[in-house]
Amino acid sequence: MSDLIALFGGTFDPVHFGHLRVCLEAGESLAAQEVRMLPSALPPHRETPGASSAQRLEMLELALKGQQRLTVDARELQRNGPSYTIDSLLELRAEVGQRVPLVLLIGADQLARLDTWKDWQKLLDHAHIAVLTRPGSKPPPHHVDAFLRAHRARKSELRDSPAGLITAIDVTALSISASEIRRLVATGKNPRYLLPEPVFEYLQRHGLYQAKPLAHLVSSMLSH
Ligand code: ATP
Repeated sequence: MSDLIALFGGTFDPVHFGHLRVCLEAGESLAAQEVRMLPSALPPHRETPGASSAQRLEMLELALKGQQRLTVDARELQRNGPSYTIDSLLELRAEVGQRVPLVLLIGADQLARLDTWKDWQKLLDHAHIAVLTRPGSKPPPHHVDAFLRAHRARKSELRDSPAGLITAIDVTALSISASEIRRLVATGKNPRYLLPEPVFEYLQRHGLYQAKPLAHLVSSMLSH
């Protein structure tokens, strides 16, 4: 069977050591040729003052500089409309051919909401799924759990077929989240050491996630 490619989607708003460390560990654990990180498009109005797509992409590129295995795949930012993982899997499968094992990495917290993803039961037609441990994650609902059990396999089996199996990978528990980083910045606290230094410097340079003065908030609400 050909080389294995792992895929890791997220908003990366901003990318942090939780994302990077689990991608590195999962990549090593699967002996993946490549772990592609796919930033997703965001709805135009989100509740927190987030970064733009271009900024999230720039931060990812800064974070990945100087290493080989983790790469950025910006296809979801280039597509119009919401980002659906199933659409990216279809595109990727067409690009890499039918034989390459594709492994979709998802944090255990996302697993609890897997049934809200478009065509979630069809994800396995195009890729395997590897669930990464994440502190504080809720268990999935019963029907998702049944789906997991029906397709459960050992990690070593993922190499032998292109898609269709589900496994779990234990990764270092890092209780870091992008929302906590945004909250720290918005409340005047320092997010340093939760994310790579060049990303921290980028946040500072661009004034990202800082609380907006009340007058600015009111005028932006009135303009929508
Ligand atoms: P937010 O706090 O804004 O929801 P996040 O930190 O969860 O963001 P996302 O970009 O939404 O980051 O997540 C992308 C993927 O990374 C998801 O599969 C999520 O489960 C996983 N992930 C994020 N942080 C960690 C972590 N600390 N440990 C393991 N997995 C993580």
